[in-house]
Order: sequence, then C-alpha cells, then structure tokens
Amino acid sequence: MPVSAPPGPRSRATRALSLASSLLILTAACSAPGTPSAADPTAAPPLPGPEDGAGPSGGGAPGGDARGSDGGPADEGPLRARVVVIDPGHNGGNASAPDEISETVPAGPNEKACDTVGAETASGYAEHEFNWDLSVLVKERLEEDGATVVLTREDNEGVGPCIDERAGIGNDAEADAAVSLHADGGPESGRGFHVIMPGGVSGFTDDIVEPSRLLAEDLHRAYLEGSGVPHADYLADEGLDERTDLGGLNMSDVPKVFLETGNMRNAEDAALMEDPEWRERAADAIARGLADYLMRR
Ligand SMILES: [Zn+2]
Repeated sequence: MPVSAPPGPRSRATRALSLASSLLILTAACSAPGTPSAADPTAAPPLPGPEDGAGPSGGGAPGGDARGSDGGPADEGPLRARVVVIDPGHNGGNASAPDEISETVPAGPNEKACDTVGAETASGYAEHEFNWDLSVLVKERLEEDGATVVLTREDNEGVGPCIDERAGIGNDAEADAAVSLHADGGPESGRGFHVIMPGGVSGFTDDIVEPSRLLAEDLHRAYLEGSGVPHADYLADEGLDERTDLGGLNMSDVPKVFLETGNMRNAEDAALMEDPEWRERAADAIARGLADYLMRR
C-alpha cells in the first residue's frame, strides 16, 4: 500500500533533472547507427502521448494518491502514467510471528512459506529495515518523475504480506514494472549484488520471462554503474540469476525481478548499506534502472 514518503535531503528538482538527463542519454545510445530516426521509436523524445493518461494509473493506483510526494501532480514528468510496484522484502514484525510467516502459500507449481525474517549485518542492521529505507527513497525518485508508485507494505512494523500477496499487489496495480528489494545473507567472504529474474515455469511465468529479463538487464547495468557495488562474486552469473522457485516471481503477471543489493554478511557491503548517503546513491541507481526500462516501452 502506498505511503507518503518523507522529503529527502537533496533537491528534488536536481534529482529529477538528473534522471531526465540520463534518460535522454540512454535514448541517444539506443539509436542504432544508420537507422532513420523517424523509424526508430527510441529516437523520438520518449514522452508518453496524451492517450497514456488513461492507463491503469488513471487517477492513481489502488489506494494511491494522484499527486507526487512533493505535492505536485503525479501526471507530469517522463514517467507519467507509468505504474511501478516496489516490494520491500520481509517486514519488521516477521521475527515475532513465526507461525504466521511459516504458513505455506501458493508459490507457483509448489507452495512455500508465507515469508521469512531476512538477513542482517554483523552490527544488527536488519534487512527488513534496510529494504524499507531503500524502497522509500526509490519511491520518492520515481514519483518526482511522474510515476505512480505502490509499496507492498505500509511501514516496517507489520507481518508479511505473504509472497503471493506481494505478487498480487503488482498484478492488481497492473504495474508496468515490479521490483523486490532485498539484501543477501551470503558467506562473509563474498560480496556484491545480483538481480534475480523469473525462469520459465509453464503456466506461470510464460508471459513475463522476456520483459522481466529486459528489466533485470536495465536494473543490473544502472546499479553496477551507480551504486559502487560490484556484481556478486559468490553466486549468479556476473550479477544475473534466473530462478524458478521464487513465489514472488512465479505468481507475478507483470514484469518483475528481485534485486539483492549486496551481501549483508560481508563487511564491505554492510558498511555501505549502513551509510545513509550510500543508500541515497543506491536509490538513484535503482530509480534510473527502472526508468531506463520504462522508457523503452
Ligand atoms: Zn531478503
């Protein structure tokens, strides 16, 4: 469910302009050499047409407001009429509700636990809190560029929602893109991020595998460039992984990926995650990756 994001310390206008500039650069880079610009949809200014104003966001996503977090209209900016669901992994109350979160729910062909507690750094910064902190920052940035953003939980105090409900929120919102933000609890010696995209699960992910791969690639590139975190050296393939066992992906009908932003058990990654300034930088990169994907459509 959406929440009002607190104002960030940086200038919203500066961030919005910075994102718009990067989108223009990306657009230019996408133009194939020798391709007549008139025939290349990416060569035109990638602003949605007026008809896009009647998209699923309309006057706001389920429960959403129709205004950006700065009080301005949400239907202005390069991402107007785009709907993004951000899923901050886990929740602050999960550890105190073991029975509730261990109940099994549909996860595709099989069932899995409703949710889990998540990782934490050696000094006790919990993954659920980090995921929440980061998600709010990403939400602010996307809203500044006109997107409608739905979070899958209201705060960091509750239990769940279960993984299938998290996917259902993206489906109900008819999101153009959905991303689950997480941090891994890998081996102390390993560091880095990875993006998890849905593999083919017949009857479940057939319709989202391809767009989710594009989303994963855009997010991977932007996060690698912007966050300062290398891709994971202890799993995945240069920061990209495909999985068929995640209910949050299998139950999604909209393009969706998981971003494991780093390894909380690794001292170097943990130091970044615990740094509020780095979280701003990471949120910039995530918002840019999502915008890159959305502007291709
Ligand atoms: Zn997690």
